[in-house]
Amino acid sequence: MKDIKIQDYITEVPDFPKQGISFKDITPILNNPPVFHQVVDEMARFTKSTGANIIVAPEARGFIFAAPVAYATNIALVLIRKAGKLPRATIKKEYDLEYGKATLEMHKGDIKPGDKVVIIDDVLATGGTLEAIIEMVEAQGAKVVGLSVLADLTFLHDDKIIANRQYQSLVNY
Ligand code: AMP
Repeated sequence: MKDIKIQDYITEVPDFPKQGISFKDITPILNNPPVFHQVVDEMARFTKSTGANIIVAPEARGFIFAAPVAYATNIALVLIRKAGKLPRATIKKEYDLEYGKATLEMHKGDIKPGDKVVIIDDVLATGGTLEAIIEMVEAQGAKVVGLSVLADLTFLHDDKIIANRQYQSLVNY
């Protein structure tokens, strides 16, 4: 199927999870195998083109796209989780949310100095999540060579986060 418009498979839900937020529900993509195939194929093509040897992805929806891309490209996958979920020694990063703070973690030793990393997630909104992950990766001496997101809410972040890196977004709002 050549004419798939990915945006048609992202449902905008007003005022979820709270007033004023337009939530991008990506689950229709998963319900439509040819669309999911196209998304994964495009992300895999991009990821390969960066020369990365590690894919890093945050829970929960980042996992959905990153795992099949890792499978398709034969590139290692490293998981980022919310605090308290990973069983071994971790590296932690606290970051600001709209209200309050959150902490992300990754297993120590998963990333090594000199590794080249692509980060994959579903939605880029304020950029706080990607920013925190980039800091964790770079603190271990690795380089973030690319960012791939399904949807970019361009009006919510400045361009600093995507500058000087290879960048892919499949749908822009
Ligand atoms: P941010 O750190 O603000 O860039 O937010 C990114 C994370 O929050 C992503 O992992 C998304 O899954 C989620 N997210 C933020 N805003 C939205 C939105 N409007 N619709 C769906 N997911 C969102």
